[in-house]
Amino acid sequence: MFETTIAGSLPKPEWLAEPEKLWPQWKQEGDALRQAKADATLLWIKAQEDAGLDIIGDGEQARQHFVHGFLEQVEGIDFENKVKMGIRDNRYDAMVPQVVAKLRLKGRVHAMEAQLLRAHTKKKTKFTLPGPMTIVDTVADRFYGEGKEGRIKMAMAFAELLNQEALALQADGIDIIQFDEPAFNVYMEDAAEWGVQALERAVQGITVTTAVHICYGYGIQANVDWKNTLGHEWRQYEKVFPALAKSSIKQVSLECFHSHVPMDLIALLKGKDVMVGVIDVASDVIETPEEVADTIGRALQFVSKEHLFPCTNCGLAPMSRDVAWKKLQALAKGAELARQRF
Ligand SMILES: [Zn+2]
Repeated sequence: MFETTIAGSLPKPEWLAEPEKLWPQWKQEGDALRQAKADATLLWIKAQEDAGLDIIGDGEQARQHFVHGFLEQVEGIDFENKVKMGIRDNRYDAMVPQVVAKLRLKGRVHAMEAQLLRAHTKKKTKFTLPGPMTIVDTVADRFYGEGKEGRIKMAMAFAELLNQEALALQADGIDIIQFDEPAFNVYMEDAAEWGVQALERAVQGITVTTAVHICYGYGIQANVDWKNTLGHEWRQYEKVFPALAKSSIKQVSLECFHSHVPMDLIALLKGKDVMVGVIDVASDVIETPEEVADTIGRALQFVSKEHLFPCTNCGLAPMSRDVAWKKLQALAKGAELARQRF
């Protein structure tokens, strides 16, 4: 009961990459970089186990950014000539690569981390991939064409590639494959209309557990400012959850702690496992076990015990290692308290 899991990313040690940055520069090159990525992955597997988490991830140590890490293994993308683009409906600018030709995987994307993860924990494992719609929102297009039609075509092309990697992760022995779709909370109509469909394409043939993580973003200033404009009730999930409820995706996440998301929106996810965000990623203040258990208690009004998975609101990548470590412990301790309470 109350199996704990994280959204996905964890801070990179400073011998691997620049600390506390969303797009950090690597500190190593070539073989040394490959080794450093593997070492950091091992370190976080151990830390998650020591904290007492139930579902273990790779902490996304081998990717510079949750979207661009995948794109680096895709043919048809020009990484040399990045352009500045407003992403998440112009919430903030990012330097993004450009799609210039038909997309194809160069080979495996995450074999090293996935196989390392599987080999070094006996617990359940989860692996994250960016969702097709969020990829489309984090890359510039010079190939698939303007407007909605072009975006849908490109999303389906990416979904096919994601599916290839997801099938390979399944063969590696990963138990849960999660797609990160923060864009679902920004383009709600599109998400319900074709975003979920693109996800279905990405999970075709996947027989292990599938999940989607939808959030209000990392704890960076641009996101904090955006959240301040959303009013006292955040109802973005309301438009997407009905489409997800009808989909084949088994687990869905939502931000709960310190968010203005009405808890009763969970009721729209009938039959699904719900990853309940009980850890704030926009604050360095460490949650107490009581706070975590209280959030779980509020969610329990709308989801049954066996379907509730305590989780972080989003990834912890841009935080300090020390804060992230303490937050992992808070998550596990809070879930333990909730097991006693409920
Ligand atoms: Zn997130």
